[in-house]
Amino acid sequence: MTERRQELSERLEAVHARIERACAEVGRDPDAVTLVVVTKHFPMEDLARLVALGVKDIGENKDQEAAAKLAALAGADSAARAALRVHFIGQLQTNKAGSVAGYADVVHSVDRPRLVEALDRGAQRAGRQVEVLIQVSLDDAEGRGGAAVAEVPRLAEQIAGRSALRLGGVMAVAPLGADPDAAFARLAEVSQALRREHQDAWMVSAGMSADLEAAVRHGATHLRVGGAILGSRLRNG
Ligand SMILES: *Cc1c(COP(=O)(O)O)cnc(C)c1O
Repeated sequence: MTERRQELSERLEAVHARIERACAEVGRDPDAVTLVVVTKHFPMEDLARLVALGVKDIGENKDQEAAAKLAALAGADSAARAALRVHFIGQLQTNKAGSVAGYADVVHSVDRPRLVEALDRGAQRAGRQVEVLIQVSLDDAEGRGGAAVAEVPRLAEQIAGRSALRLGGVMAVAPLGADPDAAFARLAEVSQALRREHQDAWMVSAGMSADLEAAVRHGATHLRVGGAILGSRLRNG
């Protein structure tokens, strides 16, 4: 095994151990928690290494970077590309939605009506079905994305009415400086309210390298973990 693959393998195992411990503490089944490995800023070669280590779910946050990286991987190792379920987790401009709908299986960052329309059009054009999560803003900070809690029911109705989209659930990032337990408890309430109207919208995307235990405690089904596995961001990558 190469040194980098060894390093990724060890960090991946350490994160799985954290998830298992956190699940054990609250009596959850670790199989009910999906680890999405966030590969933003890291090269196509790391994606290939992660696939070889059994990773199936990866997350990217910029259309241009993700599209180029996935195309390169498809050229180098089409089986590795085909093995991946791609999660788009970043703030998304409407004019990039068509591109993202062409390769993402799940878009975690849907927070406004125009984006729903653009993703639906893009998915139809690509002949694909895209799962979408409503990103919820857990504070009222402007500019970091996320719909206000009060907007969630209307967005959910809109998404549920689009033929090329499937409403998967909710996503949030704990506000900077906030107690992650309080933030994810709030997200769990939003999820419960959503599921009263949309039973199949069971996904709760929450938790990153620093706060994944809190997310597990509050019912996260998808954790988005980058740094704890890939390392710190490459300066020149
Ligand atoms: C980068 C990113 C992550 C991963 O964060 P780490 O702290 O590196 O684990 C998770 N979610 C979103 C929305 C991100 O942009």
